[in-house]
Amino acid sequence: MTPLGREIAELIRKEGAISIERYMALCLGHPTHGYYMTRDPLGALGDFTTAPEISQMFGELLGVWSIAAWQTLGAPRSFALVELGPGRGTLMADVLRTLRKQSQMATAAQVHLVETSPVLREAQRLTLGAHAANVTWHDSIETLPACPAIVLANEFFDALPMRQLEYHEGWCERLVDIGPDGNFCFRLSDTLAPGPEAETGAIQERSPASLDIMQALASRLSARGGVLLAVDYGYATPAFGDTLQALSRHRFADPLAAPGEADLTAHVDFTALADCARGAGAAVFPLLTQHTLLTRLGLNARAAVLAQAHPDRANAILVARDRLSGTGAAAMGGLFKALCVASPGVQPYGFDTPDPLIENE
Ligand code: SAH
Repeated sequence: MTPLGREIAELIRKEGAISIERYMALCLGHPTHGYYMTRDPLGALGDFTTAPEISQMFGELLGVWSIAAWQTLGAPRSFALVELGPGRGTLMADVLRTLRKQSQMATAAQVHLVETSPVLREAQRLTLGAHAANVTWHDSIETLPACPAIVLANEFFDALPMRQLEYHEGWCERLVDIGPDGNFCFRLSDTLAPGPEAETGAIQERSPASLDIMQALASRLSARGGVLLAVDYGYATPAFGDTLQALSRHRFADPLAAPGEADLTAHVDFTALADCARGAGAAVFPLLTQHTLLTRLGLNARAAVLAQAHPDRANAILVARDRLSGTGAAAMGGLFKALCVASPGVQPYGFDTPDPLIENE
């Protein structure tokens, strides 16, 4: 068993079975053994790869989007450029390189990174090089400055803990317990919570941590002006099902097998996030697939320019383009979605018409 596994087993013996939410929070964020706290999980040698790590084009296009966002916000002379869960800092580095084309905006930007992992903060510092001098790191969104903001988040919400409720004549909490063989197992709580009727065995997932963050950001954006773009994987329409998954070395793993040593994630419930942002007074735009967002931002043209400038890498550039925007099962374009939330009156670039791929889902 992993060191964190021993600690969780001890906790369960003392206090009884724990919720999946608490299990995820410990596996990902435990101060000494948590998955993100102890390692850089990204890239070919790690456990998973993300869009900014696949190609510089992802961050460049989000940079172009940010320039347009800054202009629709009235080109504020000082604003916070915020990223939630910046990983290795690659996305922010690509965004900042793109901002050099808009020097007034580059001067106006104060960079704020919200990151809990000391290992990844260090990676961000290295990636950002000279830009790191203009960066403030935060443990949570609570300490972000009260000013206009452009907030970016890629694969952030999927890494936040969530609860699972399962329907058996009422909603029971799914818990992690120790089985007769001494290994961790899932079981249901006895207590039934009221709620809408569903089919027996239906699972509903809720991430209070995600909703708290969205609620706080949406009300700040509405009050101070700003936009948020969150790209993540999940369903456009809420579905009943278990999406807890563990990834280790680019393969699916048992989420209970090695606490703290595999990445745990869940599909993002975009409907819940959108409702929450709307409830906090922000404008919410039609959800786009990553395919449609990147295509509207000019992915194909950017890939063609890059491929022409680097003939030796042309094939890799086109492969990366297809991986980012393809809609087949092996690509990210269909499964990943972009949610945009803004202060009232702002029209973010690319979000003016709904995505035909989502209407048909
Ligand atoms: N955005 C990056 C990394 C995604 S991995 C990319 O696309 O490559 C998730 C990131 O969120 C990591 O940087 C992780 O350390 C961070 N993270 C996870 N939980 C967090 C929390 N509660 N608060 C702040 N950052 C968190």
